[in-house]
Amino acid sequence: MEKKKVKVGFFSLTCCEGCEFAVLDLEEKLLKAFDYLEIVESRVLMEKIKPAAVKLDIAFVEGSVISKHDLDKLNYIREKTDFLVALGSCAAIAGINGIRNSLPEGIQERMRQKAITPVKEKAYPLSSFVKVDYILNGCSVNELEFLDFLNKVLHGVIPKLEEVPVCFECKLKGNACLLLKGILCLGPVTYAGCGALCPSQNAQCIGCRGFTKDANFDSLDNLFKEMKQSKKERFNLFTYFNPLPKELSVLKEEK
Ligand code: SF4
Ligand code: SF4
Ligand code: SF4
Repeated sequence: MEKKKVKVGFFSLTCCEGCEFAVLDLEEKLLKAFDYLEIVESRVLMEKIKPAAVKLDIAFVEGSVISKHDLDKLNYIREKTDFLVALGSCAAIAGINGIRNSLPEGIQERMRQKAITPVKEKAYPLSSFVKVDYILNGCSVNELEFLDFLNKVLHGVIPKLEEVPVCFECKLKGNACLLLKGILCLGPVTYAGCGALCPSQNAQCIGCRGFTKDANFDSLDNLFKEMKQSKKERFNLFTYFNPLPKELSVLKEEK
């Protein structure tokens, strides 16, 4: 008897669609997974989409909620899906879209007025509106982590999310710490899972996988101050992918 395939959909809210393309980059490895998956909806993977009335086993949703259209689409997806995955940092933490959330209110208002379609007052992650069953964070999503998730889920296991910071993986790789070279890095306050991708290539971590639960922002910001970094530099780095942590709201006031 033929094995029942898992029905999967890929959806994009407001974003660059880079996460879906990152999945596509898996090429042959993804083709192998198609033996077990039935792709029901995907603007990137399918030639023609017929919005399916069928129930989905898994929906991967990239992008943030910025407009009513995004919200209606998200509610529609949630209704017909058993297991909803936030794909990438736009979906998980508002990511790049969330940059505007930390801008001065006057600029935010001007952006809203110039928008082509009516937009919400802020950019929101999916979990602000619907139940999210799992998060695959990162900008873009890590292809190997995606594949590992798929592999485990197809075997009936939900993988555990990483709870250690990027520094942990950075140390495992034997990298020299960028902070010692005078380069700012958000590795100590950012969730691991990317294999310390940026520091391993001598580039600072800018927090794309979201801030850890127990992050010590004060301590890191004090270190940045000792490194003679301006408020603007520190503010921009801390708010690149994440809302400004409460502890650092003083940074906003002083800007
Ligand atoms: S997380 Fe990054 S790559 Fe993915 S959709 Fe958002 S901006 Fe694009
Ligand atoms: S380079 Fe960044 S991620 Fe690596 S140990 Fe230093 S602070 Fe942590
Ligand atoms: S090192 Fe930081 S910015 Fe780079 S991929 Fe990992 S979490 Fe994202």
